[in-house]
Amino acid sequence: MGRKTSHKFKAEVSQLLDILVHSLYTNKEIFLRELVSNASDALEKVRFKSQSEGEDDGVTQEIRITVDKDAGTLTITDTGIGMTRDELMRNIGTIAHSGTAELTRLAEEGKESLDSLIGRFGVGFYSVYMVADEVTVTTRSAEEGAAPIAWTSDGKTDYKLQELDEDRPRGTEIVVHLKKDLADRFTNEAHLKQIINKHSNFINFPIFVGEERVNTIQALWREPKFQITSDQYAEFYKFLTFDAEDPFDTLHTSVDAPVQFNALMFIPKSGDDPFGLGRENRGLDLYVRRVLIEKQNKDLLPEYLGFLKGVVDTEDLPLNISRETLQDNILMRKISSTLTKQVFTHLEKMAKDDADRYNEFWRAHGELFKAGYMDFLNKDKFGGLVRFNSSASEDAKGLTSFADYIGRAKEEQKEIYYAYGPSREALGLSPHLEVFRRKSIEVLYLYEPIDEFVMDALREFDGYALVAAEHAEMDKLDKFESLEKEDKPEALSEEQKSTLDKLVARFKDALGDSVTEVKPSTRLSDSPVCLSNPDGQFTSSMDKIMRVMHK
Ligand code: ADP
Ligand code: MG
Repeated sequence: MGRKTSHKFKAEVSQLLDILVHSLYTNKEIFLRELVSNASDALEKVRFKSQSEGEDDGVTQEIRITVDKDAGTLTITDTGIGMTRDELMRNIGTIAHSGTAELTRLAEEGKESLDSLIGRFGVGFYSVYMVADEVTVTTRSAEEGAAPIAWTSDGKTDYKLQELDEDRPRGTEIVVHLKKDLADRFTNEAHLKQIINKHSNFINFPIFVGEERVNTIQALWREPKFQITSDQYAEFYKFLTFDAEDPFDTLHTSVDAPVQFNALMFIPKSGDDPFGLGRENRGLDLYVRRVLIEKQNKDLLPEYLGFLKGVVDTEDLPLNISRETLQDNILMRKISSTLTKQVFTHLEKMAKDDADRYNEFWRAHGELFKAGYMDFLNKDKFGGLVRFNSSASEDAKGLTSFADYIGRAKEEQKEIYYAYGPSREALGLSPHLEVFRRKSIEVLYLYEPIDEFVMDALREFDGYALVAAEHAEMDKLDKFESLEKEDKPEALSEEQKSTLDKLVARFKDALGDSVTEVKPSTRLSDSPVCLSNPDGQFTSSMDKIMRVMHK
């Protein structure tokens, strides 16, 4: 027997384990999904290695699950890549600090199901402690000359490493010593088969429970569309994303030119926080001839289409392509631009066929999609797909497109007006919009800072200039009739003029350097004064953003 050593977990790990064990009650079975998917990942790595190096050691690639009712153990074995001592310590003995703290917080807040969190944070292995008193991981790396090593822990404070002298085939064996009250349930083969079918059906390697093969291998994205039921799509989607809900929409395509690829993409019902943690979780899985090359590849789609989840499989890339070469690969760029085009076409069709459904999509993913203002190649299409709340909407939930706005615009109007504000109520009272209210000229309401960047980048839509209401030229507005009669102010008498001049002088005096100009205007009717930016300058809200950025 070799050296035996004992190692402490990082503090956060114990805390995390505690939460895993105590807050998740009904869904203990997902530990099996996590272990199976780790085994599958390990097998993919071997497959990749042997295909790119062109050699095969003849070991069957499979996952086996066996139980021992008397001992109360469940064992899961794979013939995958295995782990070296270093890898074992790094991968199983530690969890990235930041991820854990964040997970702990989210789990405690209880807003998201732990089920979805576990997969997202890559702490899958630890879920085994929901059902185990003790776990032993025995593994031998596929690296040449690697020695087998065993890791044992009760998942509380420390783990032990034991170097083994015996010879073992490459791969990993995990023995789960089940907690007393759970031993019956998880040594029941029929029950285990059910769990595998539910969570791990698309695993690309045979899974055996006892002697029986359970999963049905099907790379769904490679099957002809007409043969696939929506249940199969939903099942695949849930398997892929760990989302508990069905997908909102499915895009399944097969392309032959200019590159060959199959893509199966889904739009989830709800989006993740566009600038928060979900970001890490974006990207499509890239396969080459059914071999996983990279999970959540970030180059297949532009970031603003990151709400899409799914798989791309191509015949045209070499298997042994490295992640670095992927990044500036011409084929990858072609796939990306073709996919982007398809997504736009799909969304355009949805918007045209069913505006309500499109609005539903927009509410879930519009925040992220808006970042597409930077994609100048697709500017016009992008402009056709953005939506805003508007003074013409019934309430703050209403959405309108530029095209709808144009459809309602006044006859001689050649501008689309917009205003930024914290809420519909605030904008409804804004002095800048008084004249628009008076003349019933529609104004798009912008509530997010990014909205102004969108307007700034687009500048126009279909020949209509996008203009901030506070910069609107009065003579352009003058031609529109007012709803109220007393609109046109009577000419001022000499006496009134001089009073007004004096008043303006007092204002200038009092405000000093804080303003560049004080001037009388016919713009207002109900409000006495309003703050305005010099023409051609940023809108006041944009100005605020710029100031913060340049601090
Ligand atoms: P994730 O799978 O998201 O990386 P896990 O906690 O499930 O997170 O696993 C942590 C790491 O441990 C894996 O990334 C992998 O490197 C390693 N690992 C886990 N199980 C196995 C296995 N059966 N064979 C080889 N490596 C494994
Ligand atoms: Mg995992």
